[in-house]
Parts: sequence; structure tokens; C-alpha cells
Amino acid sequence: MRQAAAALGADTLLAKGSADVFYLSGFTGDAGVLLIEPTDAMLFTDGRFETQAKDESPFTELRVVRGKLDTAVGEYLSRKARKVAYAPSQWTLTSWRVLHRAAGARTRWREAEDLVAGLRAVKSPMEVGAIRDAGKVACEVMEEVIGLVRPGVAELDLAAEIGYRLRRRGAGGESFESIVASGERTALPHARASERRIGKNELVVLDLGAILRRYCSDLTRTVFVGRAPARIRKWYKAIQEAHAIARECLAPGVAAGEVDRAARQVLDGHRIGTHFVHSTGHGIGLEIHEEPRLARGQQQRLKAGMVVTIEPGVYIPGTGGIRIEDDVLVTANGSELLTQLERDLVEL
Ligand code: ZN
Ligand code: ZN
Repeated sequence: MRQAAAALGADTLLAKGSADVFYLSGFTGDAGVLLIEPTDAMLFTDGRFETQAKDESPFTELRVVRGKLDTAVGEYLSRKARKVAYAPSQWTLTSWRVLHRAAGARTRWREAEDLVAGLRAVKSPMEVGAIRDAGKVACEVMEEVIGLVRPGVAELDLAAEIGYRLRRRGAGGESFESIVASGERTALPHARASERRIGKNELVVLDLGAILRRYCSDLTRTVFVGRAPARIRKWYKAIQEAHAIARECLAPGVAAGEVDRAARQVLDGHRIGTHFVHSTGHGIGLEIHEEPRLARGQQQRLKAGMVVTIEPGVYIPGTGGIRIEDDVLVTANGSELLTQLERDLVEL
């Protein structure tokens, strides 16, 4: 960590954003800025989190701030000349202005967007264990909720069942607001559940995730209520094929963009590539979307220990959409599926 900051010519690392701060210190409060120096680590927070910070982060020096957090951090920085590495994406423009002004002219800034994100992208066995368990819970709930899909049931009812069942199985929450889309609404890749009732002979897309021991899983299945017409079967098979090819691609050293290209090529071959309107996958961990991005042109090389989703999809406006999503660990010699659940088309 400190070596990585030093490589950027920085002598201080400033972390903000609850996932980064938790990753580096164990603190889970909403308001925290972590400052790491060659010999010290210091957590700035406010009075609401004093007890919690002492408890969760016993190895960092604690600074309980009475006024504005950003001002206090800036004033501390201003006491001597430093070069500070920070991730711009973690600061709002307002916070950054306050910090910048308080830190004064002696503070030099080094943009280090990938520093903590890069460390977080490669998971330890303990982190993989949490994601694996989160994946297991997601699979169990998915299986149960697919069993509840039938004509007349509202999307919102299924979404409520998902939230309840995840928590009943020990999840700390949902990784994101579950997606339940039916009929034409399946053509919206990020449809929120609505009051719409599921009809006969239509597609239903369910996308859900559990948070377990603070780590996220992310799982999508598409089912058909009734006997699927030939056209839907064909598209479904194409998505399955793209999913399998992308998964086969995963290995250390492979460029993230290469995995995306492989999936896209399959769908192009089936003439539905133009309807694949998002990237093939994303890293998951403390956050539902993190590094690496399996997207067009991404040069970043995969490493063993990264956990990514593979989620090719097709969305035909006015007709419907299909997506299959699983969570996969990059291993020393390939990959391992963390979400084990039937991937063939389910007709209900
Ligand atoms: Zn998802
Ligand atoms: Zn996803």
C-alpha cells in the first residue's frame, strides 16, 4: 500500500468513500477519511462514530472532528509540505474544494484513481469466501423465486419476496435494488420492478444479489412463462453460448476488453450483437460495480483473485430481453464459477 503510494511520488495517501475506508481500516461508518503516512494511519470521523471507530479500527489513530470533516483533514495536511495521493472519484466537487483550500499551497496532489481500486480488485481467500457465500444465497433465493413466477403475480411482489428471502438467509441486504421485469419490459436492461402483472407466454428477467459479510453477489436468470417460441429459444441459446465463450476466456493475463470482444463476437455471429447494449461484466466485491470492467477496449489485464460477473444480454425493443449472469473467480489457470445454478431455459 505505502509502496504503491510511494511509486506515485506521494508520501501520504488519503482515502475517502466507505468501501475504500473499510478496506484499509475496517471502519464501516458513513463519515470517515483515512490518512496513511509512512509511519501512521489516522482516521478522521465525527462524534456519532467515535465508539464504532474505536471498536472497528483499533489500529488507526482516531481524530474525532467537531466541525467539518474535510476542513479538519485539510488543516492537518497543511501542517507540513506533502505529496498526497487521492482518488478523485471519491470526492464531491464541494468536498474537494473545502479540502483543497484548507490544505493550502504546500500540499501537492497526486491523482491515484486506481491505487485502492487496484488493490480491491484482487480478492484474498477470505473475500472470495464471502462472495462465494453471497453467491450461494443469491442462487437459493433465485431458485425459490423462480418457483413463484406465474401469470397474475406482480413484479413488485416478486421483488418484495426477493428482499425478504435474502434477509431470511442471513444477507445484510440486497447488493442493489432487485430487477424484476416481465413481458416487453424485459427489453429494459435495468428495469425496476413495477406494478405490472406477469402474463402468459412472456419472458421474465430476475436480477438480484446478496450482501454477505459486506461482499456482494450478482445473479440474473431469464425464464419463460409458457412454451417459448423458436425465436426466443434461438436468442436464449445465443446468450448461453456468449456466456460460455466469455467464461472460457477468463484467465490471468487476458485483457478485460478481450473477454467482452469474445462475447460480442458470438452475438454478432447470431446477428443480435447490436442489441447487446451493455458491457459483458464487471468486478464485484465491497461494491456491486468495481474494477475490472469487462468492456470494449479495456486494456487492464486480469489477475488471479479477481471476481467478475459474466452477463451477456440481448434487448429487442417492443419484444423483450434475455440476460444470463453469473459470478466467476479468475484462478491461476482459468476460472471458477461462484454461482452454481441451472443455466438452461426454464419454461414455467
Ligand atoms: Zn445483475
Ligand atoms: Zn451485474
